[in-house]
Amino acid sequence: MLHLLAATGNVHKVQEFRSLLTGLEDKIAIHSLKDFPGYLPAEESGSTFEENSCIKSTSASTFARMLTFADDSGLVVDALNGAPGIFSARYAGENATDADRIAKLLGALQGVTCRTAKFVCVVTLAENGKLIGSFRGEIKGTITEAPRGICGFGYDPIFLPDGYTRTFAELTMEEKDRISHRAIAMKKTVDYIRRELVR
Ligand code: IMP
Repeated sequence: MLHLLAATGNVHKVQEFRSLLTGLEDKIAIHSLKDFPGYLPAEESGSTFEENSCIKSTSASTFARMLTFADDSGLVVDALNGAPGIFSARYAGENATDADRIAKLLGALQGVTCRTAKFVCVVTLAENGKLIGSFRGEIKGTITEAPRGICGFGYDPIFLPDGYTRTFAELTMEEKDRISHRAIAMKKTVDYIRRELVR
């Protein structure tokens, strides 16, 4: 049995990963940080999605002594030179809400016609503090003029994926999970695990 720790406090991410591992339930046991209450998350001090994801997976794998995956993600807006990027969660300050972050971003893009953007997610796998794999997922789109939709979280109401007429927040969770940056990165990770780690 392969024991794998999901170094995230986000239940939805663990569920998504678990559903991608369908058929391997008797070969892989997924644990969460809830099983390691003494673990204090490391500071995300990197300057790229890769570095921050790696900090999370390597530090948790050292603590748990278990194969670990972590992810780091965010929204990259071309007209803002890549902002909010790795600072997506903290874009409007520590105690801000999703609505505050959306308002700040729409304000920064007021009058801007080039509204192209992408969501990025980097999943890393680590064991005993060492990085063993890094998997990137991206989805391109544009930033709408105003929020639309009530599903999802974060910047979903203002992100219109290329080829769609509905924002991420107007798609069902299943529709979003088929095309999202996180789904792409997680699928690559699961393919690697199936190919290299499961016997
Ligand atoms: P983290 O990688 O979970 O820390 O996410 C960073 C931040 O990026 C989140 O707090 C959201 O603001 C934003 N973000 C990442 N992925 C998504 C997404 O799928 N939809 C909307 N916002 C997202």
